[in-house]
Amino acid sequence: MTKQVQELIERAQRTFVIAHVDPDGDTIGSALGLAHALRKMGKNCILACGDPVPEALSFLPGIQEFGTPEITDEDLIIAVDVSDPNRLGTAYERAPCLDRPTVNIDHHVTNSMFGTVNLVRTEAAATAEIIFDLLRDLEVSLDPLLATYLLTGIVTDTQSFSTSSTTPRVLEVSAELMDAGASLTEINENYFKKRGLATLRLWGKVLDQMQLDGDLVWSVNTLDMQNECHADSGNAGGVVNLLATVREAAAAIVFKESEDGQIEISIRSRPGVDISPIAAHFGGGGHPQAAGSVLQGNLDQVIPKVLSKAKQVLNSNR
Ligand code: 5GP
Ligand code: MN
Repeated sequence: MTKQVQELIERAQRTFVIAHVDPDGDTIGSALGLAHALRKMGKNCILACGDPVPEALSFLPGIQEFGTPEITDEDLIIAVDVSDPNRLGTAYERAPCLDRPTVNIDHHVTNSMFGTVNLVRTEAAATAEIIFDLLRDLEVSLDPLLATYLLTGIVTDTQSFSTSSTTPRVLEVSAELMDAGASLTEINENYFKKRGLATLRLWGKVLDQMQLDGDLVWSVNTLDMQNECHADSGNAGGVVNLLATVREAAAAIVFKESEDGQIEISIRSRPGVDISPIAAHFGGGGHPQAAGSVLQGNLDQVIPKVLSKAKQVLNSNR
């Protein structure tokens, strides 16, 4: 598959790279890294993302390039870290149906293989690791900025090398990226160690509402809580990781109300406990230890349905 992707990239002149909605460090780092490499190869590249890029990634040069431009006469579309067409966002979900190749580069176990060519490696810790290998095959040399983009993808998706997806190879690749000039400290400081006051106040409220039900810990992040803290819904991303540290819990879920009347769920679990089927059951996706979905309805309708499915999945994991 890599050979096919390599050939498509070598032949293309105008490329269009799409990151997933509700963007994280991997989709943004991978997209910026790939765009940087394509430009080094003398190709034109447009960057797109259906949602605004979070403040925590604003330290990356070029971040302002992400927008929602129209796809026009580009000859190659590349989706990075996108598990299914819904995650391309409404502006781009039909991109794979356009009369030109769409390359799908991803590492989610729930990937729907929507591309005309699919480079999906579920053993990779981050899409950025797959991009690293692809760029080596394309003989693109590393430079400090390229290395920073790719290391950002790896560090953020492995939660600073702490997930069970962190293999010796991930550490080797990361060491090479640091050798090429990427700063691990800069990435950690910006992504994991700086938060707004409003965010932490909101986290406090989410933690306060936490409930333990068997080995499942869960909480809510309501619009009222967001308003009280003067935080927007995006501010609470990450609090689920804190819930998942509860000693008695095998898994954690946060139910987040959004302005558009939908409920976003974020799910985490301990190594060896696969919670991706919960998200997949409700039309979402993700990884064995980190997954999510968006559901229609209000909290009272959504919570019992999700908790019941979660308990069923956790029981089948035992
Ligand atoms: P988070 O809880 O941090 O939003 O997401 C955790 C993981 O689940 C990420 O890998 C993300 O790609 C995936 N994920 C989150 N929400 C959705 C969703 O609505 N649909 C799909 N397919 N994946 C999601
Ligand atoms: Mn990823």
